[in-house]
Parts: sequence; structure tokens; C-alpha cells
Amino acid sequence: MKNLNIVPFVSVDHMMKLVLSRGIETVLVELAATIEEDFKRWEMFDKTPRVASHSAEGVIELMPTSDGDVYGFKYVNGHPANMKRGFQTVTAFGVLSQVTNGYPVLISEMTILTALRTAATSALAARYLMPAGARTMAMIGNGAQSEFQALAFKAICGIEEVRLFDIDPSATGKCMANLADSGIRCRACSSGEAAVQGADIITTVTADKQYATILSDNMVGAGVHINAIGGDCPGKTELHKDILLRSDMFVEYAPQTRIEGELQQLDADHPVTEMWEVMNGSKPGRTSADQITLFDSVGFAIEDFSALRYVREQIAGTDLYQELDLLADPDTPRDLFGMLLRCEAGQKDAA
Ligand code: NAD
Repeated sequence: MKNLNIVPFVSVDHMMKLVLSRGIETVLVELAATIEEDFKRWEMFDKTPRVASHSAEGVIELMPTSDGDVYGFKYVNGHPANMKRGFQTVTAFGVLSQVTNGYPVLISEMTILTALRTAATSALAARYLMPAGARTMAMIGNGAQSEFQALAFKAICGIEEVRLFDIDPSATGKCMANLADSGIRCRACSSGEAAVQGADIITTVTADKQYATILSDNMVGAGVHINAIGGDCPGKTELHKDILLRSDMFVEYAPQTRIEGELQQLDADHPVTEMWEVMNGSKPGRTSADQITLFDSVGFAIEDFSALRYVREQIAGTDLYQELDLLADPDTPRDLFGMLLRCEAGQKDAA
């Protein structure tokens, strides 16, 4: 029988090897399929807005959910000033456990996995919401998430050109260099206004702990799809309120988005559609060519659950994980203290 006390641990190194061995775009497509599968069984999941601990510098959050068989959570931070101090804005790790006995069955790095699942979710939502024939995307904010977003929109939505803008030109340069061999045509733009020219999709993925106006109303024409992912905390938004009032808004889980998303700028009863309703066909996505659709993404626990579920399936039968001695296993379950005494006796014998 498998040793249930040993927990598979996927390190950053193993995650990179896993992603590269399958191919980044393949992983994005497969992740999107896994997320879609879970969104289509939405009602089976425990759902709650994430538990956030805010400070002047940022936020640390726990994101739990369960489908009744498996429980999962992610630990994630968001610290916009980190980048200037040489740290990531967002880092994360996550756990899956079996509900029957509560034992963890996976611990995984989730900094890379979050970038992948966020991009997969964005592109998955866009597949239902973007205008027909969309080929060009503007991307404002060219930091850690940006290349993942570009590749997901290429692989899942058929985007061919990405128009890039960042207040820091070195971020745009980094993004262009990283995407040089991706098959995506990248254009560096001198402003947000220039970036959105001719774009069918606008992605905003900036990090700033304030009510920012990355997109003003005059920058958004009829028929555009907006993928807004940088506004994901109370007091942290990217779009002018007037854009929201002209758009049909789509969200992951409304109770969380009302606290954290662009939606925090509107009345508590402003109508929105949850993406799972679109995916299972009970609500429409885009209904007309002129409609402005807005995916107000904040990142929801079920996406992380899906991503961890995908990783667990992928590492089975490989050596892309370490075995963690995480759970105490006394000879008889009640004799935890005795296990400590036997360890002490063993140490004395060895001395
Ligand atoms: P990052 O710090 O690596 O990059 C952010 C970039 O935004 C930087 O290059 C910065 O120069 C640029 N920027 C800041 N203000 C700008 C402005 N006014 N105009 C243009 N560019 C501007 O951060 P990241 O890891 O790429 O994350 C970006 C944002 O996405 C964060 O706010 C993060 O919280 C959010 N995020 C959301 C989800 C989700 O599921 N919705 C998931 C991950 C990250």
C-alpha cells in the first residue's frame, strides 16, 4: 500500500521541468480545459471569498475550496512595491488534501502555476467573450504575468499581435525579448492610448496599490473585450468607472469580485454574470458585435484547485517531485508522544 504519510512536493525546479517537458502552450491549453471542466461543475464546490490580511505594503491571502472529495487551498501574496526591492509582486504555494481523512496529497509551488492558471483563465473567458475574428490584443503592464497572458491568448484565442505598454520601458523590452521566438508579433507602444489602437482585446495587468486609471473611457471603443486582471484588492483598480457602466461585466465569483475587483467601484447590486454560467450555457456570453465585454478577474480558489489537480495528474508516474516527510506516523495513532520518546532513545543509542 502507498505510504500515506509521504506527501509529494513539487518545487519550483520541478514545476519548470514539468511545464517545459509538456510545452508551455500545451500546459496553458490543458489548464484551461481543466478549469473549464471544474467551472462546469461549479455547484459541487464549497465557495467563499478569500481570506485576506492587508497591510500598507500589500496583502497575504488564503484561498480555500473543496469539491467534496478533495480540498485545496493556495497561499498567495500581492506586494506591488516588491518588484523595486528585487522580489516578486506575487508568490504562492498550494496544497491538495483528501477529504476522507484530511491528509495532504500534494504540496506545490504556485508562483509559476498562478501565472499559468491566470493566463489560462483569462484566455478561456475571452474565448466566450471576445469579438469574432479577434487577432490583436493590447497589453498594459508588461511584468511577471505578461508573457504567460500573451501565450495563452495565442494558444487558446488565436491572437497574432500583442501591442505592449508599460510605464517602465525596460519591462516592455523584457517582454518583447522573451516573446521573440513565440510566433506572436509584438509591438512596443509609447502610451496606453497607442497600445489600444486597433486592438480587439485589451488586457490590463498592472500592479499598483491604488485606484489607478490605466484605461480611461475614451480609450475603449465599441465591440472590445477587456481582460482586467490587475485590480484585485480593495482600493486597487485599473479602469475608469464609466467603462464599467458601458460594459457587460463577467466575473469569477461575484461575492469576492464585489470586494476586490473593478466592481468595487459600483453599487452592491450591479448586475454581473459569473463565468461558470456562460460556460454551462445557462447565460449568454457576447451577444452582439458592438457590446463591450469586461472580464473583471481577481483570481478564484477553484482555478487554483484545478491547477493543483492538473499538476497532481501530471506528476503521477514521473520523478518530477520530492517525497516530503510531512506527517507524523506513530506506530499506533494515539502514541504520538511515544514516537518522540523512541526517537530520543534512538539518538542516545547512536551517541
Ligand atoms: P509585476 O510587478 O511583475 O508587473 C506589473 C507591471 O505593471 C510592472 O512592469 C509595472 O511597471 C507596470 N505598471 C504599473 N503601473 C502602471 C501603469 N500605470 N501603466 C502601465 N504599466 C504600469 O506584477 P505581475 O506579477 O505581472 O502582476 C500584475 C498584477 O496582476 C498585480 O496587480 C497582481 O496582483 C495581478 N494578478 C492578478 C491575478 C488574477 O487572477 N486576477 C493573478 C496574478 C496577478
